[in-house]
Amino acid sequence: MEINSKRLHQRFYQMAEIGKTEKKGVSRLALTKEDRVGRELFIKWLKKLKLNIRVDDFGNIFARKEGSNPSLPPVVFGSHLDSVPNGGKFDGTLGVLAAVEVVETICENNIQHDFPLEIVMFTNEEGARYTQPMLGSGAITGVLQKEYVYQLKDDNGIAFIDALKEIGYLGNQENRVSKVKAFIELHIEQGPVLFDKGATIGIVKGIQGISWQKVTFAGQADHAGPTPMAQRKDAFVSAIKAMDKIHRWVSKLKDETSVTFGKCSVSPNVVNVVPGQVTFTVDLRHPNKKILNQRVDKVKEIILTIASHTETEEQIEEISFMEPVLFSERLVKEIENICDENGYSYHAMFSGAGHDAMYMNRLGETVMIFVPSVDGKSHCEEEESLWKDIYQGTDLLFQLVCKEIGAYSYDFK
Ligand SMILES: [Zn+2]
Repeated sequence: MEINSKRLHQRFYQMAEIGKTEKKGVSRLALTKEDRVGRELFIKWLKKLKLNIRVDDFGNIFARKEGSNPSLPPVVFGSHLDSVPNGGKFDGTLGVLAAVEVVETICENNIQHDFPLEIVMFTNEEGARYTQPMLGSGAITGVLQKEYVYQLKDDNGIAFIDALKEIGYLGNQENRVSKVKAFIELHIEQGPVLFDKGATIGIVKGIQGISWQKVTFAGQADHAGPTPMAQRKDAFVSAIKAMDKIHRWVSKLKDETSVTFGKCSVSPNVVNVVPGQVTFTVDLRHPNKKILNQRVDKVKEIILTIASHTETEEQIEEISFMEPVLFSERLVKEIENICDENGYSYHAMFSGAGHDAMYMNRLGETVMIFVPSVDGKSHCEEEESLWKDIYQGTDLLFQLVCKEIGAYSYDFK
C-alpha cells in the first residue's frame, strides 16, 4: 500500500497553473483572486473525498475525517497555499497537496483509525500581502488578536477582513481547531543543507530563535576636507568596524549561529560630510535560547568596545525577540524510525525560517518534515524540488499520519 505519486504530481501541476508566472513560478498572494481559485480547487478535491470541511474566522480551511472515536483530539497536517510575489510553486503548496494525497490513500484503502484526522490550509502564511507572517496559525493559537488581524491593511489600504469577505472565506470562530494530538507539516527546506548533503529528508527538531537589534553609532558630522583624519568621529567607520568584528566572530563559531546586517542608514548621507550618525540592524539566530542570549550579549560587548575605541556613542535597542521553538522529541524519534525502516536518508536540523508549525506547537505535539530545495533556492520562480524526494517525503508523512491516528487493518509493505 502506498501513495499515488502520479496523482500527487498531476494535482501539483494543476495547482501550479493558478497564479503561474512567466518563468513558471507562482504569484498567489493571500486573499486575492488567485488565492480564491486555488482554494476552490483544493475544496473540490476535499469534497470528492467526502471530508467534513470547515472554514474559520480567518479563512483557514480544515477538512476532517472521523476515526472510531470522535471525542479524541485530531491529528492535523497541512501547510499554506499563498505565495510571495513571483514566488515558487513548492513553498507551502507541497504540504497541502501531500496532505490531500495522504488522506486519499487512507480513504481508498479503507484504513480504519481511532483518532480523527484533519487537513489544514492556513491563510496568509507568507506575510507578503498582509505583512504579518503566519497570520492564520498565529490567530488561532492566541499569538495574534482578532481585532489586530482584521484591521491589517495591504499596500492598497484594503483591510484583511474586507479582503477575506471579498473572496468569500469568512467563516466561524467555532470552526477553528483548538487542540491537536499532533500537528505535522511537510515543507521544502528553502535552504541548501539537505541538497548539499544529498539527504532526502530533513527532520526538523525546532525553529531557531531570532533576536533583532537596532544599533546606532553617533559621532560628529564634519567637513570631509578640513577635518584631519585623526580628529574625526566617523560613525560609519565605527559601524563598519563593529559589523566586521561581529561577522568574523560568528564565522569562527562554526555552530548554528547566524548574523545578518540587513538594513543600514547613514546620516547625513552626503558625499563630502563625515557621517555623524549610522543606524544598522543585527539579526541573530540560534536554536538554543540560552546560547542565543549569550550571542546577543557578546554582540553588545563588541559594539561597546568599538564605540569606546573610536570615541563614538552607541545605542542598542531590541526590536524583537522570538524564542526558539522545540518540536516534539517523540515525533522526531518516530520519523527517524520510519526513515530507518524504509532506508530514507535523513538529517536532523533546525529551521531557520518561521512556519505555521511554530505556532501550532502551542496546540499539541508538533513536528516538521523537510524535503530538499534544489540549490537551496526558494521564494523565487526558480524554486525547485526533486520528485523522487517529494515522493519519499509524502510517503513518510503517510506512514507517520497512520501511526498517529492509530490506524489498524493496514500493511505498508
Ligand atoms: Zn512556506
